[in-house]
Amino acid sequence: MHSLTLLIMRKNLAILGSTGSIGTQALEVVDAHPHLFNVTVLSGHSNSALLTEQALKFQPEAVVVTDTAAYEKVKNNLGHTAIRVMEGQEALCEAVQWDTVDFVLAAIVGFAGLHSTLAAVRAGKQVGVANKETLVVAGALITEAAGKHNSMLVPVDSEHSALFQCLTGENYGDIEKIILTASGGPFLGKKTNFLINVKKSHALQHPNWNMGAKITIDSATLMNKGLEMIEAKWLFGLDNDQIEVIIHPQSIIHSLVQFKDGSMKAQMGLPDMKLPIQYAMGYPARLSNDFKRFSFKDYAKLTFEQPDAKTFRNLQLATDAMYKGGNMPCIMNAANEEVVNAFLNNRVGFLEMTDIIEKTMEKVSFTEQPGLEELEATNTEARKVALQFLKQSPLYS
Ligand code: NAD
Ligand code: MG
Repeated sequence: MHSLTLLIMRKNLAILGSTGSIGTQALEVVDAHPHLFNVTVLSGHSNSALLTEQALKFQPEAVVVTDTAAYEKVKNNLGHTAIRVMEGQEALCEAVQWDTVDFVLAAIVGFAGLHSTLAAVRAGKQVGVANKETLVVAGALITEAAGKHNSMLVPVDSEHSALFQCLTGENYGDIEKIILTASGGPFLGKKTNFLINVKKSHALQHPNWNMGAKITIDSATLMNKGLEMIEAKWLFGLDNDQIEVIIHPQSIIHSLVQFKDGSMKAQMGLPDMKLPIQYAMGYPARLSNDFKRFSFKDYAKLTFEQPDAKTFRNLQLATDAMYKGGNMPCIMNAANEEVVNAFLNNRVGFLEMTDIIEKTMEKVSFTEQPGLEELEATNTEARKVALQFLKQSPLYS
């Protein structure tokens, strides 16, 4: 596309999960660049008040609400406007296909984002992928559909955005390996005797990033990095043994690529999700902003260490799931969503979460090449199995 055309064309956005941490930051980016972005669709689950406020401000063509009670409220709140209020997953899948949508930001959390992301990909849209669980569960299906329908997947996750930026102008065939950086979360360096007593309030205190509750717990258990390994595999077409993880507590280097000549590229910046969100939304253009800049004066040292997958066993489980392939990442993800939800309700211990994920991975039947329906079935079964194990926890009542 001619650069002049790029400058004057506004991108029409569907922001799925607009009430979440990623969604609200995406709207801040829109707010800062109103001449570049137009909001066509907003979606949220239960926060009817915020969704209403966003709709009134950004005047989208439609708002999709997935929770029934919230839908009734939003419909009532927006009754006096021309904004269409739609309900449920199917409406979400329909709206992302509209001609008036150019870019879909997939920012729903968990398996719940799978169908709408796939619908956007099948409609050939440019898709900003924040919803990593979708790639973990159905990476093969999503990437195959993206190739077939000419849909471009642009990473939003900061590590994958870093890799994507490092790979601009490069041949993916020249990648020797990628190195995902991990902050290590709030419990870096801690051992099992400490972790056994960890409560929700500790785990929700992330040292560098302010995020939604689920990903914050995933960061504390290192499951987040495990999910990101699988996410990277699919986004960049990597073999399992090309993916490494290094702990980098300052979260300044967001990830690295090593090429076949030994040369390495890294992308750096302060930890602020608005940067990768803006990069994905603006791609292929780089947009200016007034975000705080990194300065070496503020960081005497950037440090690196090996992850402790013996203590933080979720990282090992995710590595195993990645190597096993098939529906194993889906089983692991479903179990993880159940245990994290229980942990957020004080119904399971921190370390128990890992045990339950492991037992669920052992129990649920394995399929080598699952289609969408089989993944649905796996997700349902794995949640049931995980719930049975959860009920045996002394904290579950
Ligand atoms: P969040 O919990 O803050 O927001 C989740 C959004 O999804 C909300 O808008 C909510 O209404 C919607 N939602 C929840 N359940 C739903 C359902 N059943 N059906 C439809 N919509 C539903 O989460 P977040 O932190 O913004 O994370 C969103 C995704 O982005 C996750 O996959 C996460 O791993 C990924 N991500 C987040 C960050 C971050 O900084 N927050 C960074 C990297 C990746
Ligand atoms: Mg990340």
